[in-house]
Amino acid sequence: MKTIYLDNNATTRTDDEVLDAMRPYFSDLYGNPSSMHAFGGQVAHAVARAREQVAALIHCSPSEIFFTSCGTESDNTAIHSTLEAYPERRHIVTTRVEHPAVRVTCRHFQSRHGYRLSELPVDSQGRLSLDLLEQTVDDDTAIVSIMHANNETGVVFPIERIAQIVKSHGGVFHTDAVQTAGKIPIDLRRTPIDLMSISGHKIHAPKGIGVLYVRHGTHLPPFIMGGHQEQGKRAGTENVPHIVGLGKACELALRHLDEENTRVRALRDRLREGLMARCMDPYINGDPDSCLPNTLNISFEFVEGEAILLHMDAFGIAASSGSACTSGALEPSHVLRAMGVPFTRAHGSIRFSLSRYTTQDEIDYVIEKTPPIIEKLRRMSPFGRKPEMSTKT
Ligand SMILES: *Cc1c(COP(=O)(O)O)cnc(C)c1O
Repeated sequence: MKTIYLDNNATTRTDDEVLDAMRPYFSDLYGNPSSMHAFGGQVAHAVARAREQVAALIHCSPSEIFFTSCGTESDNTAIHSTLEAYPERRHIVTTRVEHPAVRVTCRHFQSRHGYRLSELPVDSQGRLSLDLLEQTVDDDTAIVSIMHANNETGVVFPIERIAQIVKSHGGVFHTDAVQTAGKIPIDLRRTPIDLMSISGHKIHAPKGIGVLYVRHGTHLPPFIMGGHQEQGKRAGTENVPHIVGLGKACELALRHLDEENTRVRALRDRLREGLMARCMDPYINGDPDSCLPNTLNISFEFVEGEAILLHMDAFGIAASSGSACTSGALEPSHVLRAMGVPFTRAHGSIRFSLSRYTTQDEIDYVIEKTPPIIEKLRRMSPFGRKPEMSTKT
């Protein structure tokens, strides 16, 4: 059975063109880019080209691009190294809906190193209050780390305005753009962002490669120490095949950016309208007016998300749910909890995330198969019967 893969916010398929671009750097072109000889030199040239390809996607200088091992490393580096650069500043600002790579790191500095931590709340639609941000950032703030778009709901934060607020207080602004790079336009010429994280495997490059953008003039000591690679900001011999792959993936993402915002968006809207029309009591989680074009987070009250996933899996449909089974108990995601989504609805949440490989036939198949699953599970749920359904006479 063919898999209908609608879990692209978790990871994506490596594009065939990306794999083709990478292949020579495992075999014929295995040199070390730091070597003085020509054999290494041609590899260094490939790394330099990849840096240009990444820079072109987000409109910055190639010398502001630093390759890391993943999005998580980029997030960790941004926070650790900024705090080290400004030891006199003792305040960290972030949000309640960040990816664990940021959330756990910030909480570590709070609990282990005595930093003051402000986690900004979001409203029921997953939106931030910029007034509250303005009141929270002060002259003691070392770093503000706020994601560009949320991986679970797809809600996009206004990072241009956030950056301006942060810069007026002199702190460093980091944004986790893992879910936005290649999906919506990013123009770093127009936005005073200091640090930005990107991950390869969310944009059709392989797992295990990431980028940290560091704006010219930003003071950032190394997090991974050792050799002089990456202008001394990230030691370790460059992962050349993956760097080449990420460069290619960025080139392709730039080429497909319009498609992402027209065809993929239209498919996502078709899925949303199809499920809304055919399923009982659907709720959209997250602000539909400020949402990634590929993401749909939808709840079906009184039904377990995990049960929906298992039933969809039997039809070859791969998505994810907003609750995770931790030590035997179903825990609703911290993102939906922060939005105040009621328990019964958070448990019944499903995230569909599309990609440029998604077809209309696949979406129509999901629209056909999902409603009977919801109906069946609703009938089995002790809370699920509506009065008019349960009072059969
Ligand atoms: C996936 C993801 C990450 C982590 O990236 P890795 O490359 O898997 O470490 C960080 N932030 C967000 C928003 C993500 O979706």
